[in-house]
Amino acid sequence: MKLPLAFISLVLLSQCVRHDLVEVRTVKWQTRTISYDKPRLWNKAHLTWRVDDARALAGRLSIEDMHREIDKSFKSWEGAGIFTFSQAREGQQADITITFAPPPGRAWDGQLGTMGHAAFPWTPHRGHIYLDPSEWWSTQSFSMLGDPITQWLPHEIGHVLGLQHTQGMDHTMCATGPYDLPDDRSFARLRHLYAPGTPVIAFSNLSTAASKAN
Ligand SMILES: [Zn+2]
Repeated sequence: MKLPLAFISLVLLSQCVRHDLVEVRTVKWQTRTISYDKPRLWNKAHLTWRVDDARALAGRLSIEDMHREIDKSFKSWEGAGIFTFSQAREGQQADITITFAPPPGRAWDGQLGTMGHAAFPWTPHRGHIYLDPSEWWSTQSFSMLGDPITQWLPHEIGHVLGLQHTQGMDHTMCATGPYDLPDDRSFARLRHLYAPGTPVIAFSNLSTAASKAN
């Protein structure tokens, strides 16, 4: 069984944050204030990403295909209405880095097993997603031949944004994959983190009602 594990550090993030970013947006069924004033989470509405070490997959997946699938994975979270995402421009510092190097102090376990790790935003490695280069990463169109990035990366992005595993029917953030793309159930939990007062209950999933606000 493939078992992705979140990379969790016990050392809390210490950094300066902006305290002036509060916006109001319409969140599907109601208007809520989205707060980007949470030091343990992200404090802006647009996040950029980049890939480090893409040559690790040379010969198996072209850089163009990889970037397209990564872009799809990030954009799959935009439906929550909390963040937008784009690839960082050349030379621009990115908020989120995807790397094929192992997480600090760990080693990859080869093909299958652990597929990736992600750092929660309140940890020192905030913004880092680690994907095991031994997996046969592929695009959705070649899913019979490998593991489509879009069936794994959206889960790790959820962790990087601050979401933990669910016990319920959120098939993006459950403990084992492959995962579905985020839907209303995942979006409700993300809104609950960044838009206080937003119910964690999506009409399609009453079982996540017990989740707590951060
Ligand atoms: Zn996970």
